[in-house]
Formats: sequence, C-alpha cells, structure tokens
Amino acid sequence: MGKTTGFMDYKREEAEERNPHTRIKDWKEYDAPFSDEVLSRQGARCMDCGTPFCQIGEEINGATTGCPIYNLIPEWNDLAYRGQWEEALKRLLKTNNFPEFTGRVCPAPCEGSCTVAISDPAVAIKSIERAIIDKGFENGWMTPRVPQKRTAKSVAVIGSGPAGLASADQLNQAGHTVTVYERADRAGGLLTYGIPNMKLEKDVVERRIKLLEQEGINFLVNMEVGKDITAEELKEQHDAVILCTGSQKQRDLVIEGREANGVHFAMDYLTASTKNLLGSDMQENEFIDAKGKDVIVIGGGDTGADCIATALRHNCNSVVQFGKHPKLPLSRTEGNMWPEYPNLFTVDYAHKEATAKFGDDPRTYSIQTKRFISDDNGDLKEVHTVEMEKVRGEDGKFIFNEIPGTEKVWPAQLVFIAIGFEGPESQLLQQFDVNTSNRKVDAKYGDFTTNVDKVFAAGDARRGQSLIVWAINEGREVAHKVDHYLMGSTVLPSYLH
Ligand code: FAD
Repeated sequence: MGKTTGFMDYKREEAEERNPHTRIKDWKEYDAPFSDEVLSRQGARCMDCGTPFCQIGEEINGATTGCPIYNLIPEWNDLAYRGQWEEALKRLLKTNNFPEFTGRVCPAPCEGSCTVAISDPAVAIKSIERAIIDKGFENGWMTPRVPQKRTAKSVAVIGSGPAGLASADQLNQAGHTVTVYERADRAGGLLTYGIPNMKLEKDVVERRIKLLEQEGINFLVNMEVGKDITAEELKEQHDAVILCTGSQKQRDLVIEGREANGVHFAMDYLTASTKNLLGSDMQENEFIDAKGKDVIVIGGGDTGADCIATALRHNCNSVVQFGKHPKLPLSRTEGNMWPEYPNLFTVDYAHKEATAKFGDDPRTYSIQTKRFISDDNGDLKEVHTVEMEKVRGEDGKFIFNEIPGTEKVWPAQLVFIAIGFEGPESQLLQQFDVNTSNRKVDAKYGDFTTNVDKVFAAGDARRGQSLIVWAINEGREVAHKVDHYLMGSTVLPSYLH
C-alpha cells in the first residue's frame, strides 16, 4: 500500500469528458484519460484492504460483483501511485488479455465492491486500468510474443468477439495453430460492430487484432461457418473447435404495426452505422440515417443508450428512450447493499449528450409501447404508449399493470428496438448438432464441452448476452480446457484451479 492515508486525503476524480455539444459532431471517444498526477492520487486512494472485494468476481443477486477476471487491482493501484507503469502492466496482463477494452467500456463491477465505496466514492480503478495499458502501447512495451515452439495441434475458433479472441490468444501462446473464423468483414465481434466508436474507437480493436496476427493467429473474415465452410469440414480440418458465436438473436416487439417502415432492431442500426463510418466516413447512404427524424428508442439499457448517442451524431430532430422499469434510486437500498453491484440511477454518456442538445434527459420510465401507426405509404408516424405500475403479484413476484388513462401518442419516424437478446442464432448449432438449453449452448461453466466430440463453447453463446469481462474470463477458461484436451495436461492458467 503506497499512501496509508490516501483514501482520506484525496477524493475520487472522474475521467474528463469532452464537451457534449462538440463531441456529438464527431465519432471520436467521448472521454479523455487522466493525467499522471491524477492517476497517482487515485492509486493512492486504494486501501489495500486485506480482503479485496474488488477482485472477487461473483454473481450475487443476478449481478456481477467484483472483477470476473480477478485482476490484481490493489497491486497495480499501488504501482500506479508510484508511477511504476511497466511493472503495473506486467501485473495487469497476468489476468486480462485485453485491458484496453475493459479499461474503456467495462461497467466496472470492481468499483461497486471497492472497500472505499462503503462510505465514499470508489477508487477510480477502471481509469487506472486504461492508463496502464495505454502507456504500454505508447511506450512500445506491447510487442508481439511469438511462441517459441509449435505443437502439431490445430484449433478453430468460430467468432472473433472478446471470448473468441481471448481463447485464441491463450491457445496460440500454448503453441497451437489457431484459426479464427469470422463472418463479418472485420474481426472483433461486438467490440467492432456493436459498441459504437465514441465508446471504443475501432483503431484500438484493430491494433489488438494486428498484434494477435503478428503473434501467429490466422484470421479468416467474411467466412461464415455453416455457409462458406460446413461444420463437418471444420471438424475434419481441426483437432478442436470452439463456438464463440455470441448471443445476437434480438428480442422482437411483436405488437400492432411492427411492420411499419422505420421500425428497426437496435443492432441493425448500430452495425450499419459503424460499418459506414469505417468504410466511408459516413459519406455513403447505406446506413439507417436518423438525420432530421424524431427517434424513439425502446429499451432502457446500454444498447438503447448507444442508439441515442448514434442518433445524436446523425443529427436527429429529437430522441426519447422508453424504459419499462421505474427510475432507479440515487443511493443503495436495503436489498442492494455493498459489495453487490450498485443498482443506482446513473447518467450515461448518451444521456448527457441528449440533455445538452435538447435540454432534457431523454429517458421516460415505467412505459409500455402498445402499437406503431404508419401513414398511407407504410412509413411510421406515431408510437402509442401507456404507463405501467410495478406491483407485487399474489405469488410475491413483481408484475407490471397498465395505469388506465395514461395512454399517450408520440410522433416518430424512427424506432429502435433494444429490449435484449434471445440467445445464439440456431442455424450453426443445428449443423453441429450441438444441444441447447434455455436458449444457450449447453456446456457447463468450467467444463465448456458440448455434447459433440471436440466441440467446445464459451462466451455469450454459452452464457447469454453478458459483458466483455465475462467473455474474456470464458475465453481463457475454455482455452485451459482445450489445451488439456489436446495435450493431456495444460500449461495455461485457470481462474478456477
Ligand atoms: P460477440 O462479441 O457477440 O462475438 C460473436 C462473433 O461471432 C461475432 O463477430 C459474429 O459475427 C461471429 N459469428 C456468429 N456466427 C458465426 C458464424 N456462423 N461464422 C463465423 N462467425 C460467426 N459489454 C461491456 O462489458 N461493456 C459495454 O459497454 C458493452 N456494450 C455493449 C453494447 C452493445 C450494443 C451490445 C449489443 C453489447 C454490449 N456489451 C458490452 C456486451 C458485450 O459486447 C458482449 O457481452 C461480448 O461482446 C460477448 O463476446 P462474445 O465473444 O461471446 O460474442
């Protein structure tokens, strides 16, 4: 522990954000890294509390508590305080393959369970993580680690999201020949075509993919397994196959008028927008353009917030976000005590931007969409809603009741449905003959084997739509299992052993 009284001497400082009025005019990252001075102060706030809950990585009451990849947080907080960045980087890379992603966009469950956060705002762990890896790249410490020896084993990873990338990275380091098959035109999964550029710049993703290529991983993009190569062919060509295909089947809102022109899935909007940005700097017209439109985002989560921020950059006329649940509290309730992930009202980057542009927070709570109304051309013109009341049913579980007399009509020409995901797409799983349960690939956590010989599964495809940090956890764990399967023993680390 660097400074014994640091947690009393210094307050938490937030990462500086670019002015919302100016940042919505471009697609660059909205926040800026801390200066070294602030980083040192923030590192000094860590209490090195003996039992670091920030590292525990448990699911409590359905939410992630502490870091799922057990980052050695107090150790590198101390090193950041002392300015020993190269040493901090070594500690960070022991547990996290891609801190440049988590340091930017992880919801930081570590901070929710930080011991300082019992009485004060948490240590700024995520900003310190980002600084460590950014300095690693800036100072040339991140060089390709080409394995000295190769085994004669070959592994296919299907899907290049964080789970696929983490498993490929680990297995390549173990000396296996790894090929990543990706159906999109660029690698990265939702890191590339999901999370928008202003949250995670695509140069950051491409830099990592390039490094992995230099280390010997083969990436085959525009290669859809099941179409461009069959499941059978893939199994014949490789000693093991890992399904990391994500959980991208979107939940639909099947209500009256759903077929209206202008009602889209959120992911279709976000993906096309990023594709257009990367391909032509927004000069082509192939994306869904929100310019001049009244936009409604249905779904109160992060995907919905990303749609708001994207629509603002398209210069929409107005934007509103519908959430089914009531507004969250400002401080912890009795049912959500430390060290659980704090279920609190927060103002995301997109909400700040919408407030700056239109004067109001774009969120509306406890609202249910009833129908979409289109004009004679089939183009969306209105959305009809009703307010909802969240009450306990007879069995004690929460239910939502419509409140009579609260019907409302909203003018809109564009709607984005962002109400979650239903699991992995089934076509490929059927071709592999892989069992599913609860709309996920049936493979036990820690084991990761499916019912099909030499076929493993990890990440959102196995777990359901989750977080990057869990995808990294699963990528590393499945690599440990696959290495053992191929070699009879393993040199790869596991969080579980
Ligand atoms: P994915 O990232 O979904 O990657 C799966 C890949 O498999 C895709 O590239 C897909 O094209 C490919 N694929 C599928 N089928 C085939 C096939 N047949 N052949 C070849 N390739 C195939 N998490 C956070 O922690 N922080 C955030 O800020 C955050 N923001 C998000 C924003 C959005 C809009 C969304 C949708 C999710 C967000 N998440 C966030 C969640 C996070 O991105 C996912 O949990 C994570 O990417 C899952 O990783 P994965 O590798 O399992 O799958």
